[in-house]
Amino acid sequence: MHLADIMALRRQVCAGLLVTTTDRCPLSCAHCSSASTLRGKDIESDQLLRFVGSFTAGERPDVVMLTGGEPLMRPDLVCAVAREARTAGTRTAVLTGAFFARGGRLPAPVREAARTVDHFSISLDAYHEREVSRADVFAVLKLLLKQGTDTSLHIVGTGPDDSYLEEVTTAVSGTFGADVPMLVSEVRPIGRARGWALALADADAGRATPCAMAAWPVVSVDGRISACCNQDVVDGRSTPDHLALGHIATDGWAAVHERARTRPLLRVIRTVGPLHLTARVRGELVPGSEPDYCTSCHRLGDEPAAANWASRIGTGPVGELLERTAIEQRASTGPVGLVTEYGSSRYAHLVDGRAAGTGATQP
Ligand code: SF4
Repeated sequence: MHLADIMALRRQVCAGLLVTTTDRCPLSCAHCSSASTLRGKDIESDQLLRFVGSFTAGERPDVVMLTGGEPLMRPDLVCAVAREARTAGTRTAVLTGAFFARGGRLPAPVREAARTVDHFSISLDAYHEREVSRADVFAVLKLLLKQGTDTSLHIVGTGPDDSYLEEVTTAVSGTFGADVPMLVSEVRPIGRARGWALALADADAGRATPCAMAAWPVVSVDGRISACCNQDVVDGRSTPDHLALGHIATDGWAAVHERARTRPLLRVIRTVGPLHLTARVRGELVPGSEPDYCTSCHRLGDEPAAANWASRIGTGPVGELLERTAIEQRASTGPVGLVTEYGSSRYAHLVDGRAAGTGATQP
């Protein structure tokens, strides 16, 4: 499964499921959004496999993305989830920091996990390179490509003018051509989705700025299922009711899908975004004194007028039509448009090197 095919699903409601398999990680990257250490928690394997077992051919996500912490500290669980998901037709991707790659190694359990999943993505940035060298990551990518695994790199820099981004993307393209697509984003103060969503925070609040990050449910390491991957929500520091979708111990995919799809407030967040919704119900926003994009979203539950407005426009066939129209408009820009909006616009084209027709150069 190509990176661009995964990103093309990112705006579609419940087309994907993100799962934090463990808080633990043997690396100590300075910018880590989840501040993982070796002493974190693991998700309950039985509960996760039961939840994935609730997928059916007609009621399932298209892709499950396994993250951490470091998901490949649990390669057996990665394989078990991928096999269980595939019985319903769901594909699986894994995002790793490649702790195992030191010395250019691909240990047998990791090799087996890479063969079992449908996409294998490695984080690469200045912080990771202090932990695992670029040469070792490139050596592992060559082994993965040789065994036919679809791979990509998730690359983070400090901004569009970061010289590291220019240098590393040139090195990857020169070595692998289009065989290793790149998702390039910019490091933000805290958290994955919060970082992406903050990119929209300066937007004119009167304009609709839908949140695509509320499209895929996210399973936290404690089994909670939330409507988005904002790190404060995933880690449980902020738990607004309107973003809570259930728990893997007690719910199945069909129930989670139904809640995510039909809850009016969520639908409106995905259709116009939290700032626009706040502006609509208050009449105006006070420049410079409003909370950021995600914080305004967390507070929507405290604004009864917001829930009322969402119920009026986000319910039933009308709400469904408004949301579908908003998603279709933005989806027409494809994976490159998504990364332009949420990641690094300068490097967005690298998410789908196939379009450029670059040939592979790796051995
Ligand atoms: S705006 Fe709301 S739904 Fe979107 S990422 Fe932020 S907290 Fe999550």
